[in-house]
Amino acid sequence: MHPTDSVISTLIFALILFVTFSAFTIFMIRRFQVLRAAVPIDRFSNVKERLSGLLRFFIGQGRILNPKYIGAGIMHAVIFWGFLAVTINSIHFIGRGFVENWSLPLFGPGKFLDSVYLPFVDLFEVGVLLMVIWAGIRRAIIKPKRVTNSWDAALILGLIGSLMLTDILIRGAEATVGESSPLGNSLAGLFSIMGTETVNSLFTVSWWLHLISLTFFLAYLPISKHFHVITSLFSVYFRTLNYGALPMLDIENAENYGVSQIEQFSWKDLLDVYSCTECGRCQDACPAYATQKPLSPKLVNEQMRDHLNEKLPFLNSSGEEEWSGPSLVGDVIAEETIWACTMCKACEEACPLFIDFIDRFVGMRRHLVLEKSSFPPELNNTFRNLETHGNPWGIAASQREEWAEGLDLPRMYDSPGEIDVLYWVGCAGALDDANKPVSESVVKILREAGVKFAILGKEETCTGDAARRLGNEYLFQVLAAQNIETFEKYGVKKILTQCPHCFNTIKNEYPQLAGNYEVMHHTEFIAELIKDGRIKPKTELKSDLTYHDSCYMGRHNGVYDSPREALSAIPGVNLTEMPRSRENGFCCGAGGGRMWLEESMPKVNQERVREASSINVDTVATACPFCKTMIRDGINETGVSENMKTKDIAQLVADSL
Ligand code: SF4
Ligand code: SF4
Repeated sequence: MHPTDSVISTLIFALILFVTFSAFTIFMIRRFQVLRAAVPIDRFSNVKERLSGLLRFFIGQGRILNPKYIGAGIMHAVIFWGFLAVTINSIHFIGRGFVENWSLPLFGPGKFLDSVYLPFVDLFEVGVLLMVIWAGIRRAIIKPKRVTNSWDAALILGLIGSLMLTDILIRGAEATVGESSPLGNSLAGLFSIMGTETVNSLFTVSWWLHLISLTFFLAYLPISKHFHVITSLFSVYFRTLNYGALPMLDIENAENYGVSQIEQFSWKDLLDVYSCTECGRCQDACPAYATQKPLSPKLVNEQMRDHLNEKLPFLNSSGEEEWSGPSLVGDVIAEETIWACTMCKACEEACPLFIDFIDRFVGMRRHLVLEKSSFPPELNNTFRNLETHGNPWGIAASQREEWAEGLDLPRMYDSPGEIDVLYWVGCAGALDDANKPVSESVVKILREAGVKFAILGKEETCTGDAARRLGNEYLFQVLAAQNIETFEKYGVKKILTQCPHCFNTIKNEYPQLAGNYEVMHHTEFIAELIKDGRIKPKTELKSDLTYHDSCYMGRHNGVYDSPREALSAIPGVNLTEMPRSRENGFCCGAGGGRMWLEESMPKVNQERVREASSINVDTVATACPFCKTMIRDGINETGVSENMKTKDIAQLVADSL
């Protein structure tokens, strides 16, 4: 059987291929040109780690097969693997359009690789067909809230279904006159009843339909919303490998101080904009979306993608035409959306394709703060307090030591001699009444363990975490430089923090300003002291408690076990996990500088406390001063304060010593 057995049909076949590949190439160049013009970012190092991630998360579909979404995950993975499996088949299909029975070396009728490969193709094609039918039912009838229905998606599903069905029919027809795959051979029995002429017609129709589906699919992909089929591979390969740090802004030499135009994002950000599959897992995980704030990460991505596509001809026209359409910040992405993000990273952790959001929000916040001076009014105070007093409350720096009165703590400026660790108390630990007891507990633990430590006292100033996440990069760099100067003055090597925000900023962001230190969070430090037998919790606490993961310890830094190990070492503690914990933990609502912003109802902290109430615990253990405050407020606001309290892990361990 040879469908292009005349010169005319061969020419038509060649012409279709030529037009398809030309269109594909032109569209791809247009799409990628914009990436070359975007802001450079280095994602080319750590090749080994990137390749192993590609194997695990792209080929292996590691995140797609998240147990929480196992149904949709299996559907997507089977379609993806099916596509990979039929690649050789498609190459054969094109080759055989020119030369009858052409095959790649070691493939072909009667050869070993065909006998292994063709059953595979059978299996995957049937699997993909079933999954396409299931996907159609899901989109048309079940309609999950997180999935966007569109004609584009229906068309792509239809094309995939057509590709699989026509290929199966081709093999069935071929099997009536020669060797084929096991499925083709089974169909041959059925087809031979139809008579030779009908089988020939079926073959010809299926063959041309297959060709049209394949070529249309190829040419359409780069301009469709399903461009992600191509770009997702690159998004996974070039994924972020460094945890916790926001991109550095070169204040002195930068052309722009933030992102006001789509092309001012990094090329990886734009690649991410293209790569979204609209699966909605990010939206599902987002605390802002869950509490009815005007933010859905999925929608943000869709809006940016549509805006980029609209603006593309202008970006590729070398500045001949001026863009006069909607602006990115304000029109395409509303300012309230930009401020609603808590930078909890739940969206990025949930995304099967490692699409980043936080850097994009920070880029737009930098534009609003540094270029437009447009930010929520309550931040006026926060920024002023940080600038003038080095803490968000505007309390005098001299009062940073008041919490330690009577504790006889060594200060660095008093030359305490050799120390094991600098205890970084942080603004909340030093100045917030709710968190001063945590600092006292840390001191009690350090003394019990015989750790030699000192504090900076009045020489400590805010790390700049909130300023940076609120877009005030200039202020962050001023505060960070001041702290680094202090650390260098005393030759500090190892720092202990009790705040995950301080921990993250000193550990991951100060190196951008040449401040390199070994940094430990108190939960890690305490867990280590317990493990080494330097402290031993003895007093039974008799508490049913749960642990609320801080986003900046957990998702941003991958510290999940130490807090739990410290809690489990306390006699009488019964630790129960909330439904959303560890990587899936739900934010308290204070991250991303949102601690200093007003929040409309319903509130994130209340939602979290309701979750804790649902598992009947008497204590919510925390490891972050902001989480502690938010959970405390949530407990009071939801009226469960008679049955529930919150305590930092350091307090619980200290209580038990
Ligand atoms: S970082 Fe958190 S709050 Fe921000 S978009 Fe992602 S999930 Fe939502
Ligand atoms: S950003 Fe990621 S998680 Fe969100 S819809 Fe797109 S692919 Fe899904």
